[in-house]
Amino acid sequence: MKIAILSGDGIGPEVMAEALKVLDKASSVYKFSVETTEALVGGAAYDRYGTPLPKETLDICSANEAILFGSVGGPKWENLPPNLQPERGALLPLRKHFSLFANIRPVKVYPNLIGLCPLKDELIPNGIDIVMFRELTGGIYFGQPKTISEDGMSAVDTMSYTKKEVERIARKAFEAARLRKSAVLSVDKANVLMTSVLWRKTITELRDSEYQDIELSHMYVDNASMQLVKNPSQFDVVVTENMFGDILSDEAAMLAGSLGMLPSASINESGFGLYEPIGGSAPDIAGRGIANPIAQILSAALMLRYSFGRDDAAKAIEQAVEKTLADGYRTGDIYQKKEGEKLVNTKEIGEHIVGYIE
Ligand code: NAD
Repeated sequence: MKIAILSGDGIGPEVMAEALKVLDKASSVYKFSVETTEALVGGAAYDRYGTPLPKETLDICSANEAILFGSVGGPKWENLPPNLQPERGALLPLRKHFSLFANIRPVKVYPNLIGLCPLKDELIPNGIDIVMFRELTGGIYFGQPKTISEDGMSAVDTMSYTKKEVERIARKAFEAARLRKSAVLSVDKANVLMTSVLWRKTITELRDSEYQDIELSHMYVDNASMQLVKNPSQFDVVVTENMFGDILSDEAAMLAGSLGMLPSASINESGFGLYEPIGGSAPDIAGRGIANPIAQILSAALMLRYSFGRDDAAKAIEQAVEKTLADGYRTGDIYQKKEGEKLVNTKEIGEHIVGYIE
């Protein structure tokens, strides 16, 4: 496995170090070899090369099969022009360059972290375990025309989708469902939007022709946003278009209680992917060795699953995280001062996770 390591700024390098230890252990237990190449990105790259995404870094990414990304940004670079800012100048061009059309966001509330979820405990007796598939390169964010009239009195955005765009994200969701409960929920607004009519028809046809083993259901986006806070345990694999996914995935993320727990993946048709925590560089705690590395570690697990087809090793990492939490080890962001909990730092929790990989 050839992996580009882009740790970035703030807590990025601290949490990446733990993810690399976990990968190393998984590779020896599951017998695969990992070759990593580090490259600068974000503020760190700007300081050295005057740009947040230098050509050297892009070349290294292209020469590898996946990118494990930390986080970028911080107060030092906040006032740069937009195209030189770490997030806008590095992450968006990377997504575009590699045509990363499928954004995958798992949200898990572990039974012993239920107290962190802002919902009442009785609403989620069994925790939450959702994987959201968001179409990332089409829809209303990119459709043309997109303009404001010269007199400033009207504006237009265009929502458009092709059958091919719908099919390729649906395929990713169906494939993932095969590794889970063999069920996919598609979220749309087919009672109002023509793009949603096409979306629903395309996904239904694909299920009927190629994924008859998967149970497919549909829900309108307004209902989905209500159900996420009313009965989130009903969701498993969810697939939706760009704007709905943008909003619903952030709503779902909040259920987990801490940004330090949430990984994500953005992949393209050939399986090349960028894997990163959904949180940022956390400048408020950077350099203190107390950040939660679990989001970064789970991002590495997603990489094994989606870019390298190693669901076995991915599951072993996820189970190691679960066991570590069940033993009571907590970084500050997930510490609830409950009996049996032990407050630990970034390295310590990383070591416990490594120890549990079998
Ligand atoms: P943030 O996600 O960095 O931090 C928000 C809060 O969550 C902070 O209190 C932080 O300490 C906490 N947090 C985040 N990750 C954590 C972890 N792993 N362990 C413990 N606590 C954690 O968001 P922000 O403060 O709005 O942004 C800080 C910088 O990060 C900005 O420059 C922003 O542009 C950038 N950013 C980058 C990305 C990215 O690289 N993908 C995403 C979001 C924000």
